[in-house]
Amino acid sequence: MVITRIAPSPTGKFHIGTARTALFSYLFARQNKGKFLLRIEDTDQARSSNEHITDIKESLDWLGLHWDNKDSEHYQSKRIEEYCRVAQALITKGHAYEKEGAVYFNVKCQISNVKSTAQNSKVSEGEDTKILNFTDLVHGAMSLDAKNIEDFVILKSDGWPTFHLAVVVDDHDMGVTHVMRGDDHLSNAPKHILLYRALDWDVPAYAHLPLILNANRTKMSKRCDPVSITDDFKKQGFLPEAMVNFLALLGWNPKTEEEFFTLDELTKKFDIKGVQKSNAVFDSGRLRFFNAHYLRQKSPQEIVKLARPLWERSYDISGCGQTYLESVAQLAVERSETVGDLAKDVDYFFNEPKLDRDAIVFKKSTIDATQKGLSGVIEELNKLSSDEWGKENVIAQVLARVVESEKLGNGDVFWPVRYALSGANASPKPEELLVVLGKEKSIKRLKVAEEIIQTSSHLRPDRSGLR
Ligand code: GLU
Repeated sequence: MVITRIAPSPTGKFHIGTARTALFSYLFARQNKGKFLLRIEDTDQARSSNEHITDIKESLDWLGLHWDNKDSEHYQSKRIEEYCRVAQALITKGHAYEKEGAVYFNVKCQISNVKSTAQNSKVSEGEDTKILNFTDLVHGAMSLDAKNIEDFVILKSDGWPTFHLAVVVDDHDMGVTHVMRGDDHLSNAPKHILLYRALDWDVPAYAHLPLILNANRTKMSKRCDPVSITDDFKKQGFLPEAMVNFLALLGWNPKTEEEFFTLDELTKKFDIKGVQKSNAVFDSGRLRFFNAHYLRQKSPQEIVKLARPLWERSYDISGCGQTYLESVAQLAVERSETVGDLAKDVDYFFNEPKLDRDAIVFKKSTIDATQKGLSGVIEELNKLSSDEWGKENVIAQVLARVVESEKLGNGDVFWPVRYALSGANASPKPEELLVVLGKEKSIKRLKVAEEIIQTSSHLRPDRSGLR
């Protein structure tokens, strides 16, 4: 049975690179009907924290990457005795020795021992070289000269294991068959393979995954780049579906034109053979593109659920019914890429707009024409039944008729109507606003604009007269 794992260290917030590794490990396990396990590598006592452990679990859950050992959580800090026991066994076998209170793995003795039958690795001896061969599922056949590996610490003088010992002991004890991790660990693989051999344990298959880099090909930094799943993505209005889709394509080539994949689809389509060797580049525009896609797939109810807390923070929406909120949501989502965008430029749905007299008149129009347009629209719209009011095309026809019958231009009618309703220089089309705001509110706002124009026409001459 295939067993994969994700083994984060709780020394920082759950990282985008770890999330991508978790996703690939999850997909590989699920598609092979195997298990995906979580292991908390908390041997760095000074830097590990419970807050980060919680963040790891919440992030995995949020992404939908459910692990199979929820009932028997694995913390390295609780297994110190086990690592000591293994270190002791290595000493007894002559594969390790004590020096200055620490335990060192005897690399030199290992690489001259070519008897091992471990499936995935073998050492072949040349004149001055000790070549260690292993197959990486991403990089293919790897040949490394083990001659350059120095003896290394496996147990520190404080009795705690180093990463090398803990990772090997745990992967063995957890029955891990496929170790997937970032490329930054590729150089550790020979050390780990030598440890497996010394312990007479089967070496797991390795897949070292490409790193995720900034657009300028530098390493992503905790300080200035978006790396935390919680802080930089979840809290910034990105959806887990978009994150999963985006992460899947960071290093994996689906070899089709298709670009939208749900977690379920990925479970079927993911192929480790499509994982690239070269590093992947983080493209925030692409993430926003995926997010907009998944946001627009949501039902109006779901969008309201996402937007409600944000709207409540800025507006009093207590008087708004669910149907009204849903139609606001439907308009807002068209202009949104993130959940946060749903709360941008929606002020006029919840507050009366403040109109600027000059802005009511389209720049190519006149006060006179605007006045004609507004009063014509008010008169015609007033004739509509509430049934007819619900239909965008009916309303658009009314506006077009006013343009025609009053011999006006589109800008004399559409602009002031749209502006009267929104008080904004950019907003959805007038017929969309009219439908959502409803008859009563719309007519009231149009009348306010008409009144402002009437007052101003007494105050100063028609703009066209000034030209
Ligand atoms: N704790 C290691 C890391 O976060 C895991 C290494 C491994 O997966 O073997 O990089």
